[in-house]
Amino acid sequence: RVEIRNVGKIFGNYKAVDDVSLTIEDGEFVVLLGPSGCGKSTLLRMVAGLELPTFGDIVIGETVATRLRPKDRNIAMVFQNYALYPHLTLYENIAFPLRVAGRRGDEVDKKVRWAAGLVGIEHLLARKPRQTSGGERQRTALARSLVRDPALFLLDEPLSNLDAKLRHSARDELRTFQERVGMTALYVTHDQVEAMGLGDRVVVMQGGRVRQVGTPEEIYLYPADTFVATFIGTPP
Ligand code: ATP
Ligand code: MG
Repeated sequence: RVEIRNVGKIFGNYKAVDDVSLTIEDGEFVVLLGPSGCGKSTLLRMVAGLELPTFGDIVIGETVATRLRPKDRNIAMVFQNYALYPHLTLYENIAFPLRVAGRRGDEVDKKVRWAAGLVGIEHLLARKPRQTSGGERQRTALARSLVRDPALFLLDEPLSNLDAKLRHSARDELRTFQERVGMTALYVTHDQVEAMGLGDRVVVMQGGRVRQVGTPEEIYLYPADTFVATFIGTPP
């Protein structure tokens, strides 16, 4: 369970995130949706520990994590440009966080094969990233984040550099995967179709503030204001 408590971020005199409160329950997939510049990535980076809030607190499980370093938060972050190591095979890319953590032998092998199986890339493990497609690399990055059993996944537009067709199938796979594993996730996108298709709940942001939180159905059928209605595309 993650609690974002009255969190804000001010850059100079610009309020990028303005008093946001939000709770993500265990196993819940929450999507942050809003136009470019509304503060989505800044909020995600504060949950990750890559940015310190100007005010407010982030609570992860029982711990006030606001000032904890990223590596002490038990989170996995997948960015838009999920850098894989080009000289390593997919297997070694996925094993990398385990090796850094000092794991060896059988334990590493089991974990890597488990994660690769979940995202459907078992048959590609011997390849280098350049011998795979964008979608396969994206799944490898997801598998790499999975092997550490994070309590929370933070995903910042992880599908945005895929072409439309791949993005569709990756979105379906992510949804299936979510249903199977029950990952707790905060997922950022500016694509309303993606948000509505993926989220258990969707948080609509504008200008650093939360405009509405609800299930995709609630938001579509009962938009809180004209901004949400226009952004989601609810017919008038
Ligand atoms: P996008 O969909 O384009 O990725 P976003 O919702 O993720 O947008 P943020 O990256 O959170 O937006 O940025 C929110 C606002 O804060 C923007 O106006 C941005 O210019 C500003 N901002 C972000 N980081 C900084 C920074 N380090 N210094 C100053 N302003 C910043
Ligand atoms: Mg962003």
